[in-house]
Amino acid sequence: MIQVTRFKLYPSKEVEGKLFSNLHICSFVYNWCLEHNIWNDSVLPQLKEVYPDIKEVHSIVLQNVVHQIRDNIKALSELKKKGKKVGRLRHKSRHSMIFEQTGFKIDRDMLKLSKIGTIPIVISRPIDGTIKQIIIKHNKTNKWAAIIVSEDKIKEWYTFRRSYQKPGNSLKVVGIDLNVSNFSTDSNGLVIDHPKNVKKAEKKLKRQQKKLSRRKKGSFNRKKQKWIVAKVHEKVENRRNDFLHKTSRYYVDTYDLIALEELSIDRMVQKGNSGLSKAILDASWGKFENYVLYKAENAGKYAVQVIAKGTTQDCSVCGKIVPKDLSQRIHSCPYCGSVMPRDYNAAQNIKLRGIEMVGWGTPEPGTLDIEKLNTLAEIRTSILDVNNPEQVFVSETRISRL
Ligand SMILES: [Zn+2]
Repeated sequence: MIQVTRFKLYPSKEVEGKLFSNLHICSFVYNWCLEHNIWNDSVLPQLKEVYPDIKEVHSIVLQNVVHQIRDNIKALSELKKKGKKVGRLRHKSRHSMIFEQTGFKIDRDMLKLSKIGTIPIVISRPIDGTIKQIIIKHNKTNKWAAIIVSEDKIKEWYTFRRSYQKPGNSLKVVGIDLNVSNFSTDSNGLVIDHPKNVKKAEKKLKRQQKKLSRRKKGSFNRKKQKWIVAKVHEKVENRRNDFLHKTSRYYVDTYDLIALEELSIDRMVQKGNSGLSKAILDASWGKFENYVLYKAENAGKYAVQVIAKGTTQDCSVCGKIVPKDLSQRIHSCPYCGSVMPRDYNAAQNIKLRGIEMVGWGTPEPGTLDIEKLNTLAEIRTSILDVNNPEQVFVSETRISRL
């Protein structure tokens, strides 16, 4: 089991200077290798002879710089193979460095880094297992963080065993439809809205970005405004991540099988046309699904991504195709007479596909109570119990306390 956790770092001025010079050297090596088309570890000893300053950086960190170029190039060529249009790798300054296996030590609330020094670290949650990697990161708002990657063999074994246990009768299953009008609608009728505090911060961000565009290039005021934008950006990001973590945590804690939609580009374009920025939505959905997937894996639960095609069009009660365009918010089936909110119908389909996918038998259509569905006028005010006894309507304020 791999655990990835971010911790805050508070380097002294002196150590910070060393961190910056280390990053600077990493950038130099990165760009040098790119320029000379060499991305092999064996270049490093020669490079050290020509540029002795490089020795100021731990050798594993340098190796990782070279490896990163190799990985990036590999990723690019893979995209190319798939027919995607790709550019070349560009020169850039690096804002992170990777320590692996050696060169670091954590002693209570101190992180010791080879060739850099000792940095106070806030260990805000326990680190499970052995530390494999520490990524030191400097962000745009001038803050430092350590991302710690650890591996826990015991937990892995435990999860492995659990995943081979046959699901019992009390199995709780949910399908989640991510959409534009609200953040998500699930197959138990729980609707989660886009978080208000994120919306508020997003508005502020837009305002500050507009201000930035009015500032003269190269001016001091522009620099200052850039800093403000980065600050607000960080705030939006933190609030959104917090929301995504809590929401995904709720699902993993509540259910044994969570079915999500596979997010394809077409799907995102089709779905993402609201007042919210499309890019932001796309990123949130992707992140949310990743959070659910890895949290479920950690908890020994099931999370699957089903094929998205037709989830909104198919009738979840009778299985017939009922075409509808984006503006139609209600699913009204002419074949079986069921009426329900569009997103709720999609969530049902996602759930059914999820059950099918893990091989727990094809669920019979018609197990849903049509009577109940027809009387459902507004999903937000009514909680619908279809197969699951456990029902809670979670408002945004409740989510924030979960
Ligand atoms: Zn139907």
